[in-house]
Amino acid sequence: MRAVEYTRADTLDAAVALLQGDSSAAPLGGGTTLVDLMKCGVAHPSRLIDLTQMPGHDDVEAGESVLRIGALCRMSDVAEHPEVRRRWPAVSEALLRGASQQLRNMATIGGNLMQRTRCGYFRDPSFTECNKRDPGSGCAAMDGENRGHAVLGTSGSCIATNPGDLAVALTAFDAAVHILGPDGHRVLSIDEFFPLPGETPEREHPLGHAELITAVEVPVSAAAAHSCYLKVRDRVSYEFAAASAAVGLEVLADGTIADARVALGGVATKPWREPGVEAALIGRPASAAVFREAAALAAADAHPRRHNAYKVELARRTVERALLTVSG
Ligand SMILES: Cc1cc2nc3c(=O)[nH]c(=O)nc-3n(C[C@H](O)[C@H](O)[C@H](O)COP(=O)(O)OP(=O)(O)OC[C@H]3O[C@@H](n4cnc5c(N)ncnc54)[C@H](O)[C@@H]3O)c2cc1C
Repeated sequence: MRAVEYTRADTLDAAVALLQGDSSAAPLGGGTTLVDLMKCGVAHPSRLIDLTQMPGHDDVEAGESVLRIGALCRMSDVAEHPEVRRRWPAVSEALLRGASQQLRNMATIGGNLMQRTRCGYFRDPSFTECNKRDPGSGCAAMDGENRGHAVLGTSGSCIATNPGDLAVALTAFDAAVHILGPDGHRVLSIDEFFPLPGETPEREHPLGHAELITAVEVPVSAAAAHSCYLKVRDRVSYEFAAASAAVGLEVLADGTIADARVALGGVATKPWREPGVEAALIGRPASAAVFREAAALAAADAHPRRHNAYKVELARRTVERALLTVSG
């Protein structure tokens, strides 16, 4: 058994300072991912800096131009917030489709964005080949059991799927991630926050060791207010997506689509925006035929492996059904 030191930080600044002073420390949110990874033998922090006992950073503010979600908000509190449900339904639905009620009551928004892939080869150190866990060791998933793996954004080094649901909705609606570190505050777009694996799949986000997520902001938009999150999975709850879609539409009184947002989950190495599908919708009538035609453009650059080719068609059908759902 390995000893782990536990420290409660009183402020985010104090947490940053503690992390800066200890290269083997890790921030702790609800612990629903980190403690799991410690038990699997994938994460080895010698000290946990608990963020959840400090005051603040757990508010949801739904303003005139932006939704601001503190990094220490619990998933369930955000999902059930009346303004989030009314003005960003896809965000609420994405949270509600993730994990279980008990986990959502514990898990924080910051920890949610930082969750790691569910690739079985990554999470089980008895498999020696995993470039994400052990750079340069290879990727056992390439020719292994890859039914749940990504078909988009893959590289010769990694095909692990990004497992998050919330991040897909945040990607559709152009969220920004606020970060605090030793050099102060910075803001990244949600797209910048999730890099492609390329040759460095071990780098899953651009945060430095002592940097923390402080908040997430999602702009107000008509498309976000008319949105949904559709998640297709092997069982109805407590399961990660085989494919999912966050979709939002702004439809004018004459039935023309003025704005469209489409992002995919469960099929890519990062939350996957679909600009080609959006372009095929904007300016056209909101009809079943147009939805089908546009959805057929999803996952256009897919590179399926032996067991996951089904995800290409599943992604397209998920987008089509989400468009039909959101248009009523
Ligand atoms: C059985 C099970 C099923 C699940 N199903 C789903 C699902 O269907 N969909 C889904 O989206 N998720 C699912 N999850 C994942 C779940 O959403 C995450 O475990 C949770 O959101 C992580 O939040 P946390 O606060 O517990 O993070 P923690 O476990 O505390 O931390 C996770 C990581 O984030 C870091 N961290 C925490 N807070 C911050 C911060 N503010 N800034 C920077 N780094 C930080 C930690 O150091 C750690 O590396 C599931 C989890 C489990 C265990």
